[in-house]
Amino acid sequence: MRVVVMACGAKVLTEILAELGTGRREEAVVCRCGHRMESQGIRRKELMTILGPVVYERSRFQCPSCQATRYPGDEALDVVGTTRSPGLRRMMARAGSQSTFKDGRDDLHIYAGLEVSAKDVERVAEGIGQQMESWSEQERQEILSREEHPEPEKDIPVMYVSYDGTGVPMTRPELAGVKGKQPDGTAKTREAKLGCVFIQTSVDEEGFPIRDPETTSFVGAIETAETFGWRIYGEARRRGVARARRVVVLGDGAEWVKNLAEMHFPQAISIIDLYHAREHVSQLCRILFGSDEKWMERRRQRWWGNLDAGQVEKIILQARHVLPDNPELRKTAVAEIQYLDKNKERMRYAEFRAQGLFVGSGVVEAGCKTVIGQRLKQSGMEWTLRGANAIIALRCMMKSNRLEDYWESRVA
Ligand SMILES: [Zn+2]
Repeated sequence: MRVVVMACGAKVLTEILAELGTGRREEAVVCRCGHRMESQGIRRKELMTILGPVVYERSRFQCPSCQATRYPGDEALDVVGTTRSPGLRRMMARAGSQSTFKDGRDDLHIYAGLEVSAKDVERVAEGIGQQMESWSEQERQEILSREEHPEPEKDIPVMYVSYDGTGVPMTRPELAGVKGKQPDGTAKTREAKLGCVFIQTSVDEEGFPIRDPETTSFVGAIETAETFGWRIYGEARRRGVARARRVVVLGDGAEWVKNLAEMHFPQAISIIDLYHAREHVSQLCRILFGSDEKWMERRRQRWWGNLDAGQVEKIILQARHVLPDNPELRKTAVAEIQYLDKNKERMRYAEFRAQGLFVGSGVVEAGCKTVIGQRLKQSGMEWTLRGANAIIALRCMMKSNRLEDYWESRVA
């Protein structure tokens, strides 16, 4: 029945399209060079649609001056330079962004009765990912070129900006010159940077912060920290950072995370994810008290308590009194202490909690898994930079609920 219904639909669609492609034009078709183009008769094009293939006839126009051609019908239907309808491209992009390209092909066959190849799904999904990236890049440039005025009406109580890195497995040529963690110094992955922005307006009865539902948006790419800085800053601007009463930057203690916070969000409260801070304290305990399991555990609990209370100085002071004699151990212990000292203002957890703020970067870490890991880090996968960035762009757009914005921008 589905096959028959689709065939009937395709027939009706053919008739509708014929009128669109060849009907009389009210306005002259003008070339880019400014000349009025002349009709050159009708050309046929086979379009793949979600109802199956349809033959479509449309007028061809040519410029008498520069010979350029245009098909106004294709422009109206958003099928310039492609034989796939927007509806089909949309389905293929979604299928290719959700799962492997082979799974995407199978899903389209089972759910929609469409016959496409895995390679087609890949090509279309990546092509659309790239188009989305240039669309959002354009939007970002436009936002960043506008003067930012601090808004008198601050209607966003707290805006969170949080970002992190996660490794994406790449093909060999994409790894040339990349330093990695393999024993010989080579890498198997490159770092994708993912950022999110979300809003908090309230706390629960116990004073714990609540993230406003549906307010989380994601941006990401495999790129330098510097380039990514403008990406996440642009996203914060798009989300109205000027209207936020308070801005919080949440991240791990990585150097680039801190640098971007200082450069782009100097007004923000900068917080190191509590769980990363705890990890560092645990590590310090292992170095200092590792020989005595029980004592180490007691110390760890005590210092975690200090950390929760925001008393980082206490930990530092006590640790400095018990530095090991072994020079190697001493060096690592001193490095951990320096980390705590350098970041102590970003570890005032009691204070942050009293203000009803989040102190964990769970949202962006979950994002690294759902936006990137689930699709790009499956076993056996190897990506090109181009392919990975296209799919990351597509998935960020999808997880930010912005797919409709994108498709609508194409119609306008
Ligand atoms: Zn011309």
